[in-house]
Amino acid sequence: MSVSPDHAPVVPPLPTDEPAVPSDAAVGASGCTLLYVLPKRWSLFYCLTKTQWQKLRDRHKNLYPDWERCSCPKGCKADSLDERWNYDKVTHTKVFVGASFICKGCHWLKSLPHRIETWLKQQTGRLPEQSKPPHIIDCLGWSQEQVDVLRQRDLRLHQVESSRLQRVVQQAQQGKATVVPSPVERLSPAEVSSFIRPGQVAVVPWRLDLSALSRYGYSPAEIEAFERRMYDVAAERMASITSW
Ligand SMILES: [Zn+2]
Ligand SMILES: [Zn+2]
Repeated sequence: MSVSPDHAPVVPPLPTDEPAVPSDAAVGASGCTLLYVLPKRWSLFYCLTKTQWQKLRDRHKNLYPDWERCSCPKGCKADSLDERWNYDKVTHTKVFVGASFICKGCHWLKSLPHRIETWLKQQTGRLPEQSKPPHIIDCLGWSQEQVDVLRQRDLRLHQVESSRLQRVVQQAQQGKATVVPSPVERLSPAEVSSFIRPGQVAVVPWRLDLSALSRYGYSPAEIEAFERRMYDVAAERMASITSW
């Protein structure tokens, strides 16, 4: 369906501000060019052990006894603990701000990777026929046109981000860029010079700030351990950057 630009329906604000194109270049203190990337599937859910994640869920339930009801119009049954993050684009820091239990439909809308997966399946006819209107229309009250606009926008951004990543991979293969699996300030000067040759673009992960976990009773040492774990996962993801 084509939408005339004059009458393009406006997409309601999305419940997340995850930057769609998370990599952009900045000049680092050492004078080299830094290209920040936001690893995929880089959240507490993906990085904590099952037991650690269960503990976080339990602590949340204890703090918020009405956790079972999602805040969407129909108050659907909440079953996924959704992490809320802020993305500070100036300092390239992914900041944990809290969590809440939300329903499956709201969780789908919040997650760009989930949406992209759905749109791509739809494009290739791998999405099963829906028997009832999707949650986004039925509960959240979006029009089909708004959903179409969201789909077009998501797919366009997905394309932009994919080709940016492809360029990075190419640059790395040609030796013009190098993947540094940690924020530069976490490395010693010796490590920096062993990773980055003069003139190379350094591809680095975003920074993290998990300090808000203290609200759930985590100690500074536990928070630091979670951050270290997430940087380790970033390094693993970045090592296989070609398969993003
Ligand atoms: Zn709902
Ligand atoms: Zn909901």
